[in-house]
Amino acid sequence: MVILKEAMQPFIGKKILEARGNAKIDMGQLLQRKILNIKTWGKQFFICLPNTTIRIHFLMFGSHSIGEQTRPDKSLRLGLKVGRRTVFFYTCAVRLIDEDLDSIYDWEADVMSDVWNPRKARKKLKAMPDTMVCDALLDQQIFSGVGNIIKNEVLYRIMLHPETLVGNIPARKLTALINEARNYSFDFLKWKKKFVLKKHWLAHTKKTCKRCDLPLVKKYCGKTKRRTFFCENCQVKYNFST
Ligand SMILES: [Zn+2]
Repeated sequence: MVILKEAMQPFIGKKILEARGNAKIDMGQLLQRKILNIKTWGKQFFICLPNTTIRIHFLMFGSHSIGEQTRPDKSLRLGLKVGRRTVFFYTCAVRLIDEDLDSIYDWEADVMSDVWNPRKARKKLKAMPDTMVCDALLDQQIFSGVGNIIKNEVLYRIMLHPETLVGNIPARKLTALINEARNYSFDFLKWKKKFVLKKHWLAHTKKTCKRCDLPLVKKYCGKTKRRTFFCENCQVKYNFST
């Protein structure tokens, strides 16, 4: 999302000249409207217009292209001609939102945002002591933008067992967790742009712990039941509140 946001900066300040696609929105409403801003919140993407916002959610198989249409019309949810430029969104969910975005989205919860608020994240974590950390990291109200790969890598980096209950995590470890959720997200973006993301995975889909030279465990942990890869030897499961 952040990569697309950067790529779409030249669209800001320009008018929408054409809008087509099979998204169930009023395409006519978009014409001649000026793009005021481009925003992201986790995996959601926003094109802000006067009085309304186009919200794009890429779901599992969504994609986009800039400059030319790369997928067939049946996959095209929304195609925009903006000034001299074009952008196409495929197999995603498109909606128009008339409410003020600030009243719906907590920008301070977006780990990649300039206004990311680690203290607020800590407060939310303190309020859920009985939640496993693997579930807490995927909670978009706390760590918007963190997905399953980032979850696995962050927990491996800070040597924390995914099934540790949040309330049992020592204070220093909790700080490391909150900081790494953001740090790793920026590393993830940097590597993704260079197409070297997988090369940098230490835990996700891996079979052996590099630190211990022991097999990693693969388990569908927590309530979210997402694929989790971890080392039972060096990732500590804290059992008592400290
Ligand atoms: Zn290990």
